[in-house]
Amino acid sequence: MRLTQVCKQHQKGKKPYNQNHSRNWEKMKFTPETYQIADERQKTFIDPKEIWDYLHAAKSSPERVRAIIRKSLDKNRLNLAEVAELANTKDPELIEEIKQGARLLKKKVYGNRIVLFAPLYVGNLCTNNCSYCGFRTSNKQAVRKTLDQQELIENVEALEENGQKRLILVYGEHPKYNADYIAETVRTVYQVKKGNGEIRRVNINAAPLNMEGFRKVAESGIGTYQIFQETYHPEAYAHYHQAGKKRDYDHRLVALDVAQEAGLDDVGIGALFGLYDWRFEVMALVRHTNHLEACYNVGPHTISFPRITDVDDFKVDPKYQVNDDDFTLLVAVLRLAVPYTGLILTAREPQAIRKEVLQFGCSQIDAGTKIELGAYAEDVVEKQNVNKEQFTINDERSLAEVIDELIDDEYLPSFCTACYRLGRTGEHFMEFSVPGFIKRYCTPNAILTLAEYIMDYASPEIAEKGWRVIDKNITQLNDEKQEENIRKRLDKIRAGERDLYY
Ligand code: SF4
Ligand code: SF4
Repeated sequence: MRLTQVCKQHQKGKKPYNQNHSRNWEKMKFTPETYQIADERQKTFIDPKEIWDYLHAAKSSPERVRAIIRKSLDKNRLNLAEVAELANTKDPELIEEIKQGARLLKKKVYGNRIVLFAPLYVGNLCTNNCSYCGFRTSNKQAVRKTLDQQELIENVEALEENGQKRLILVYGEHPKYNADYIAETVRTVYQVKKGNGEIRRVNINAAPLNMEGFRKVAESGIGTYQIFQETYHPEAYAHYHQAGKKRDYDHRLVALDVAQEAGLDDVGIGALFGLYDWRFEVMALVRHTNHLEACYNVGPHTISFPRITDVDDFKVDPKYQVNDDDFTLLVAVLRLAVPYTGLILTAREPQAIRKEVLQFGCSQIDAGTKIELGAYAEDVVEKQNVNKEQFTINDERSLAEVIDELIDDEYLPSFCTACYRLGRTGEHFMEFSVPGFIKRYCTPNAILTLAEYIMDYASPEIAEKGWRVIDKNITQLNDEKQEENIRKRLDKIRAGERDLYY
């Protein structure tokens, strides 16, 4: 049985995810050994012709677009034909309706919390030559560096002193950064405690591993393992990736299947927008989501959609450049297409775009981001301003500045890590499907983690605003018993207790 056969049953986005698929997989009897040789999973489940056929057939009439928005607002999953219709919409008024639909859906599914995290680059050795990346092998100007144990600890301490609780560790793709190495760095990060600071969730962005490798990394206690396909179009992929292991499109495409088989069911997918047609990439991200849901009963935890700009000698093909209007539309379309998947918006985008796009569907953002290796603890690393970055960031605000703006814009900043630590896996599915999930867990946990931040790290001005937003959100829960319970916990936090969660 080919993957394409398994997933075509679900590509229409009909009923999700029954057990039959797992049984299909079991029948296929994959083992770590079989993965070492070519097996069925190494066949691609992306069919470019199929995606283009959907896009060419999409008519996007006002009636259809409105019906699709309504379907999504009823928390029904969209199929590929419907996603194509939204992505093809050109009428500015209809586009506005799509954005409003995404805004409404986001409120329904995620409430007003925004989860915050920071990336930590561990090392930039790399054997690949992705033409858009500052760490590519052919960039001889790149200063290669891997944080040693002490530097890693000092960077984590610096992040903790800012109030961060969730990190994503980023590694170049190099034999040095194997599963043992990644697992070791994860354990180190979890052990670092500075004052009341600690990192409670470590996510990973690194090369595909084999099954045993994914198991090892999972055992070190990671949250999400992210692997981005960059572009889902095979020919475009070949154009940008001409050396190193990463040039194997299929190997990368099925990497998260291997992770699932290894028991690592919390995975993140992404595309680098600007390498190929953005509509195609949106469709392919949804197709990848369908595939994971069909085969493993759980879709990706997160989708990322960084947008590439010109860097040094890499120039974005003007045909594929994603302008700001298309970017906001693509985020809104993704929100409506996959309501229960977290959408991550990074500091590659400038402040104004982040503020705009946040409304239409993003649930997680990075803040206080520094991508220069070792930059969080400047005093331990000699300052070198050039060629230690993978790309440029356009929102350089501190965590405190981002929190300040979020509160002004009526969001509830959150450092919550509760589900993962309580074993509530498939959390995104749960919050989508379990009535009251946000009210019972997400909002109270956002309140408690924001209170910790205020007590330990906030300036008096942010503290004052922060307590106000906490009060307002408690009142809006409209539940006396819950209010009393949260207020008791807030008293404990004021008295010095930490890490309280629901
Ligand atoms: Fe290496 Fe990743 Fe950069 Fe490609 S994108 S060159 S794999 S660090
Ligand atoms: Fe995420 Fe669970 Fe926390 Fe809600 S309660 S913010 S789903 S970890």
